[in-house]
Amino acid sequence: MEDTNHIKDGWFFETCSMWSGMGFALEIEQVLHKEKSRFQQIEVFQTKNYGRMLALDGIIQLTEFDEFAYQEMLAHVPLFAHPHPETVLVIGGGDGGILREVGRHDCVTHIDFCEIDEAVIRVSKQFLPGLACGFDDPRVNVNIGDGYAYVREKKNQYDVIIVDSSDPVGPGEVLFQKPFYQSLKTALKPDGIVATQGESIFLHKECVTNLAQITKQLFVHQAYACIMVPTYPGGNIGICLGSLGPALKEPARKVSETIQEQLQYYTPRMHAASFVLPVFAHRMLDNI
Ligand code: SAM
Repeated sequence: MEDTNHIKDGWFFETCSMWSGMGFALEIEQVLHKEKSRFQQIEVFQTKNYGRMLALDGIIQLTEFDEFAYQEMLAHVPLFAHPHPETVLVIGGGDGGILREVGRHDCVTHIDFCEIDEAVIRVSKQFLPGLACGFDDPRVNVNIGDGYAYVREKKNQYDVIIVDSSDPVGPGEVLFQKPFYQSLKTALKPDGIVATQGESIFLHKECVTNLAQITKQLFVHQAYACIMVPTYPGGNIGICLGSLGPALKEPARKVSETIQEQLQYYTPRMHAASFVLPVFAHRMLDNI
């Protein structure tokens, strides 16, 4: 097996300064792809027990084993909280998984998509067809570029904006800052909802608190939801949500049987339950 700096004896090791002193490992059978794009190191592995895995700069973005949990929740929580979403913007998410989930909503008529790294899309189309099928949807309009620059040009246009960003290091850093959120707010229609990749309530307290503070200042409703994802650091990740109109913690629409049958994680009960946080998180987030 080809050796990279984070592979040893057939195991992929993920370590990062964002969760220092902790590591995660997956047993690997094969390196399927490796390239350095303009923005990041892109790798696809065949793991022993968890399907294919996409890593950017040595950080796991998804495995085929558990990607549904993250994609479904990041897409369906804001989309079902909105009474009638028609226009949607997805920023990041070059693997296509969020597009796949947004596409399940028949009421959505137009989906703008902006990913900074064209290579992530190309590699995902080649190696992760179960996610990249999201790009086959004719409602999707693909743009390559920085999500902040893209959204800065938009005004009063979207019912829902979903930010499926990598971590706040490298190209993703700008997507965790207040000016970006101000632009998201301007790009939303008056009753719009934004949902962003919100890191881990256990491991990234400063980042989560900062996102909660920004969204509280800018939006009418703000909330943080937790998702179980075994292959993310600490086994969990969050969604930071802001709404200019609808309440966030319950679905505003019925989930049709046709959609429910296609899902493996999201249900209306899971929607509500994801906002039930441990008491340490309430102490962190309630009075900021
Ligand atoms: N859910 C995943 C995670 O947190 O592990 C993220 C998956 S998705 C692959 C993240 C995508 O965000 C990457 O393809 C990356 O290129 C893209 N991205 C990072 N910074 C960006 C920016 N400023 N504008 C648009 N896309 C960006």
